[in-house]
Amino acid sequence: MRGGRSGRSGAPVSDRRAALLLAWFDAHRRPLPWRADLDPYRRWVAEVLLQQTRVEQARPYFDRFVAQFPSVAALARAPREAVLRVWQGAGYYARARHLHDAARQVAGDGAGVFPRGRDAWATLPGVGPYIAAALASQVDGEAVVAMDANVARVASRWFLETGDVRSARVRARLAARLATFLPRDRPGAFNEALMELGETICRPTAPSCPDCPVRRSCRAARELDDPGAIPRRPPSRPKPHVRAAVVVVERGGRWWMQRRPDRGFLGGLWEFPGGKIEPRESPEAAARRELAEETGLRVGPLRTAGIVRHAYSHFSVDLHVFVGTAPASARPGSPGRWVAPGELGSLPIARGTGKIVSRIRGAGRAFPDSGSDPGRTRRGPPLGGEARSGRSPRQGRRASTARSRVPR
Ligand code: SF4
Repeated sequence: MRGGRSGRSGAPVSDRRAALLLAWFDAHRRPLPWRADLDPYRRWVAEVLLQQTRVEQARPYFDRFVAQFPSVAALARAPREAVLRVWQGAGYYARARHLHDAARQVAGDGAGVFPRGRDAWATLPGVGPYIAAALASQVDGEAVVAMDANVARVASRWFLETGDVRSARVRARLAARLATFLPRDRPGAFNEALMELGETICRPTAPSCPDCPVRRSCRAARELDDPGAIPRRPPSRPKPHVRAAVVVVERGGRWWMQRRPDRGFLGGLWEFPGGKIEPRESPEAAARRELAEETGLRVGPLRTAGIVRHAYSHFSVDLHVFVGTAPASARPGSPGRWVAPGELGSLPIARGTGKIVSRIRGAGRAFPDSGSDPGRTRRGPPLGGEARSGRSPRQGRRASTARSRVPR
């Protein structure tokens, strides 16, 4: 048998490496809620959440998600908005949409039975090569290496790989090296151990080599003055910054809000009309133009509510917020609805929109308080953004120009 827990001397080097890693993992692994058992549903939710989020940040979202949707059947039955609402604040909302779509696939065609094996897991929406391998090894015991950025970093140092670990060729090479001593009896634990090592010991900067279970066989630790120097990191580029105008239109104590298209950046979340401020355009002029383009609405005087700043993972934005009142006869020509402030607690909204709501209500210039304040009920800043998308951010009366697309 290869690998195992004993780590006895005299075993082949490859087996001893695995044994040392597993012994360390058995002694030091964090007691995370999804590790209580090998339940495929909980493991799957955790792996999707952890795709873009660090463990400690992901934990409360995991607890909340499985409390609200305790099974794949419960998730499949839930309305889309309820799923996005629970995910709210975690960022990268495509993950929640994919979980929901996949749950419906499993509960429908799959009759509630999860796939078995890497290739089968990979057929689910949102399950890429890494998650498929992680789940297949953990839940099904398939002897495959799960290679993500954490594992690639650990392996590149362990084997002194100086190539670009973002490339598929280099990652395949590292995975092949790891596969030579992947223990066939505990492949899932081996993969989890590598991830745990990358998160807690072999960190992106300043790896804690004296505490590392594989330091004796690690080439970077033996041969480099600074093992953290690899993998080399590309120089960080400054994030783009954009300016946008947003209009909160009130009619009879309700606000006009629109739901972003289900796919794409912040897909399925609700927001106020608005868009990018063009060069040499004033914020108020942009607000009026965007409102007219998106909804056909024309309002009287606009009152400024100041500037809300928000940073996503790949850009930052200044949102110039305006408030206007529409006549009772106003009928927007775009999909959306008049939302009472108290309803916001049940609608999924992005953090930027939550800031706008808090700003307006905090300034006392908005509308009668008829419910909870989403600004107070929401968690801290988003853990991440979402990948860029070429899709329109809204279903406007007229399609917004590509230049005006700004989430909030
Ligand atoms: S010895 Fe240091 S560089 Fe090597 S794997 Fe361990 S923590 Fe990373």
